[in-house]
Amino acid sequence: MAYFFVFQNKTYMEEQSGGFLWAPKMNKDGKTFSHWSLMTSVKKGDVIFNSYNGKMLSVIIAQEDCKEAHKPDSFDTEALWEKDGWMVKAKYIPIEHPLIYKEHMSEILKLQGAKYAPYNSLGRGNTGYLFQVTDELADFFISKLGIANITENQGIEETIFKEIEDEVSLIPEETIREQIVQTRIGQVKFKQRLMRLECKCKLCGLENLSFLRASHSKPWRDSDNYERLDKYNGFLFCPAHDALYDKGYISFDEGGSLLISPLLDEHTQMLMNIDRRMRVTLLSGHQKYVKYHRENIFRENIELNEVGE
Ligand SMILES: [Zn+2]
Repeated sequence: MAYFFVFQNKTYMEEQSGGFLWAPKMNKDGKTFSHWSLMTSVKKGDVIFNSYNGKMLSVIIAQEDCKEAHKPDSFDTEALWEKDGWMVKAKYIPIEHPLIYKEHMSEILKLQGAKYAPYNSLGRGNTGYLFQVTDELADFFISKLGIANITENQGIEETIFKEIEDEVSLIPEETIREQIVQTRIGQVKFKQRLMRLECKCKLCGLENLSFLRASHSKPWRDSDNYERLDKYNGFLFCPAHDALYDKGYISFDEGGSLLISPLLDEHTQMLMNIDRRMRVTLLSGHQKYVKYHRENIFRENIELNEVGE
C-alpha cells in the first residue's frame, strides 16, 4: 500500500462529488509533468491525503488501479488541459476536524521525502497535483487525525476501534482493510501509548523515535480490543530487538531478566546486540502479557513442534 498527497484547490468539489481523482496526461503545449504521471502509480487500496486551501478535508481511498480516462465533463471550464488523462475511482472520507497543514509544517518538512514531496523547503505547496507521502509522514497525519478526533475518556478503546472501522469500512477487500487497521492506524496508536511509559528501546536504550518500533507481547491477532492498545502489552524496541522479540528469539522472566532462545547462536547474539546479562524493569501491568509471550511466543526449545510435537 502506498500513500499520496493531492492538491485539489480548483477541482475538489467536482472530484469529491464524483468520487474520483483525475489528472491530464499533458497540457495544451504537449508537456507532461511528474505530478500528473504519478497518477499511474496509484493502486487499489492506496491512501491519498487531500489538501484544499491549506486544509486536509478528506482522506481518499483508491477503489481501483489508475486507468486512462477523458477529462470529466464537470471540468470543462479548465481549458488548459488536454482531454486525455488518468483517473482513479476513489472514496472520500470526510474529516470532522480538518487538519491545517501550516500548523504542522516543521514536522511535515522533516518527514516528507526528498523526491516528489508536496512542500518546498519554505513550507509552500509545490505547484502541481499529486505527490508522494512517506510512511513516516503518513503515520504522522494519521496520528494527528486520531488526536484531533478523539477525546480521552472512558470507552476510548471502543471509540478508537469504531473510528478505525468507519474509516476503512468503505474499502471492499477485507485483507486491505485489515492491513490498514492493523499495521498502520493501530500500530500508531499503540506506539503513542507505549511512549507514555518510556521513550526508548527497552533493551539497549536507543532513543531515536524514527527507529523505535512498537512490539506486542501478546500479539495483535490473539488480543482483544482492549489488549491491543494496552500500554502494558508490549515495549518499544530498536529494529533488531523488535525482530527478536516479535519472532520469539528473546523474552523475559518474571524478574525482567533476558531469556535467549537456544535457536539464537552466540555469533548472532553478538551481532544483534544481545547479552545474557541484560535485564529490564517490568511493571506489574506488564506481567500477564510477558507471561503470555514467554509461554506462547518464546522459542524455548529447539523447534519441537516442527517435527510434529
Ligand atoms: Zn535495542
